[in-house]
Amino acid sequence: MMLLSRVLVLLALPLVLPGLAAGQSDPYAVERERMVARQLEARGIEDPATLAAMREVPRHEFVPVDRRRHAYQDRPVPIGYGQTISQPHLVAYMTERVRPRAGMRVLEIGTGSGYQAAVLGAILDEVYTIEIIGDLARWGAENLRRAGYDHVQVRHGDGYYGWPEKAPFDAIVVTAAADHIPPPLLEQLSDGGYMVIPVGSPFLTQTLMLVTREGEDIRTRSLVPVRFVPLTRETR
Ligand code: SAH
Repeated sequence: MMLLSRVLVLLALPLVLPGLAAGQSDPYAVERERMVARQLEARGIEDPATLAAMREVPRHEFVPVDRRRHAYQDRPVPIGYGQTISQPHLVAYMTERVRPRAGMRVLEIGTGSGYQAAVLGAILDEVYTIEIIGDLARWGAENLRRAGYDHVQVRHGDGYYGWPEKAPFDAIVVTAAADHIPPPLLEQLSDGGYMVIPVGSPFLTQTLMLVTREGEDIRTRSLVPVRFVPLTRETR
């Protein structure tokens, strides 16, 4: 695998150099390719659309400027207001679990930096995301615009209630931990839709759950232990 990732990095170089020559410098292209090889492919992420999105989205544009050097490391990065952007593997894992395919409409709860929404936006035309902290909603929207994902729609509000005007959603990705699955989100999940949501006590280890819906039949399955910031209930 080490050898494979070196080969991939070397292969990436010729792609970067013409970009630099054309003045479209992306100083992080090699780091991003290495992240995909070592943190994602080497650890079982397989969905081609998810891998292509993780290769495409400039993660460094979604972290505070003074933390850019950490953008592609195998860990979460603080984004202010006590919130964090999840580590790359978890973003890819959650994306892959909802089986993103062109034509789907997806809702994310917890915009934060906008990175997870951008990864979904790299695959899908219809992405809606809700953030409860006003300053983060504005910053996330600005990051999305700057990185070229202006089709992602950001709303400031309490994601517990979902976005009923745009429902139903083929996929719902919740990036803050709740002690139960919010019933409004279940109602807004389409027939055949997938939801991923961390469920458990705030600040302790939670379980990432996969929720599927077939008509009125709702099924939940535990995936992996995770640690997310809590889903809060008051807009700030
Ligand atoms: N998906 C983000 C990670 C966000 S961390 C990213 O890719 O960067 C979780 C986010 O959920 C925080 O920004 C937090 O403010 C937000 N959040 C918490 N409770 C929420 C709620 N009820 N509705 C919407 N957003 C919420």
